[in-house]
Amino acid sequence: MCSIKQNLVQVTRQISVAAEKCGRDEQSVTLMAVSKTKPISDIEAAVAAGHTCFGENYVQEGVEKVQYFNEKHPSLDWHFIGPIQSNKTRLIAEHFGWVHTIDRFKTAKRLSDQRPEDMPPLQVLIQVNTSGEESKSGIPLDEVESLARDIDALPRITLRGLMCIPQPESDYDRQMSAFAPLSALFTEMQVTRDNFDTLSMGMSGDLEAAVASGSTMVRIGTAVFGARDYSNKES
Ligand SMILES: *Cc1c(COP(=O)(O)O)cnc(C)c1O
Repeated sequence: MCSIKQNLVQVTRQISVAAEKCGRDEQSVTLMAVSKTKPISDIEAAVAAGHTCFGENYVQEGVEKVQYFNEKHPSLDWHFIGPIQSNKTRLIAEHFGWVHTIDRFKTAKRLSDQRPEDMPPLQVLIQVNTSGEESKSGIPLDEVESLARDIDALPRITLRGLMCIPQPESDYDRQMSAFAPLSALFTEMQVTRDNFDTLSMGMSGDLEAAVASGSTMVRIGTAVFGARDYSNKES
């Protein structure tokens, strides 16, 4: 068995153990394989192992991969999880199914305007900054409701939930504290919203705490594809 396949089996197992521990159904947590900086051949290995959900951070690189796989495997799910520059929104709107990193109305509006008519609405998450001044991406918790209402008015995108990237933290209890505010807000917003079902939190280092905190989608790079090499990355 190739190592990517093995890794997928192992991470899936980790998710189901974590889910079982807190009384959740393992099926309620989706594993997104974060393939940024990794070659097409690695993604092919994951697809051959039956995996369908992938995340990319860089627009150019991500679009090339989406285009390549659209030929052979049009039913894969592609999530954009990187920072968004205004001049790159069209490429994102034309290729990805999901965007996790919405942190301003202007970006959401451009994505909605640029989403092609023959594609389903773009599925989006609001990125929330739960780490305060230590982190520059995402909006504060108390601005989420207002941005969500503005996004509701946009025709070609659908708000599906919330996402965060807390400061890396190795202690389990601290990981739990970092996830708690977002998971509380998500639960609260679910009461009044339709199709609001996705809480994107958890990476290779904090998967268990994320699942225990109610995450419905964990974004796992290193534990699936191995360590990344950024030496020939342009941005
Ligand atoms: C790179 C990245 C991940 C995956 O990180 P690992 O620690 O390799 O699992 C998840 N989410 C985002 C937003 C990322 O940029």
